[in-house]
Amino acid sequence: MKYDLVIFDADGTLRRCTVPGQVCPNQPGQWELLPGVAETLSGIEWGSPSHGRTALGIASNQAGIARGYLTEELARKMLEDTVEAAAGFRPIPGSVELCPHGTREGCSCRKPGPLMLQRLRDFWKTVPARTLFVGDMASDRGAALNAGCAFRWAADFFPGV
Ligand SMILES: [Mg+2]
Ligand SMILES: [Zn+2]
Repeated sequence: MKYDLVIFDADGTLRRCTVPGQVCPNQPGQWELLPGVAETLSGIEWGSPSHGRTALGIASNQAGIARGYLTEELARKMLEDTVEAAAGFRPIPGSVELCPHGTREGCSCRKPGPLMLQRLRDFWKTVPARTLFVGDMASDRGAALNAGCAFRWAADFFPGV
């Protein structure tokens, strides 16, 4: 692995909503991992870059919080649950970033803004050139460009999806 840090988008990248007609899960039990995700992530030796391992981060827009569909606390727990299901460990505090703001609030954390990626990069004490962001939407690619880090589409990172 040539990267110190691999950051993943959540919805449409690691997991999908199982409620028909609903884009993102609002409760536990409303999501499942996408095919190939657990197989790929369980094959990587995750850890701290300071120990020569690759760190895992999450950067997720969670506008459902601003819309009142779920609390920030629950959204964060469900992202931690997603990491545990996908990679086999509970992510440490500081490695999961979410944007709780609405689409029109003009915050700088909502992707394609770079702030969540920059925070994760700073948390893991690495640099843009050694950071990869994996996502499924143009706003993900935009966030990677704005943060100066590498980007791969989820469909390319997870073979067989
Ligand atoms: Mg997505
Ligand atoms: Zn935000």
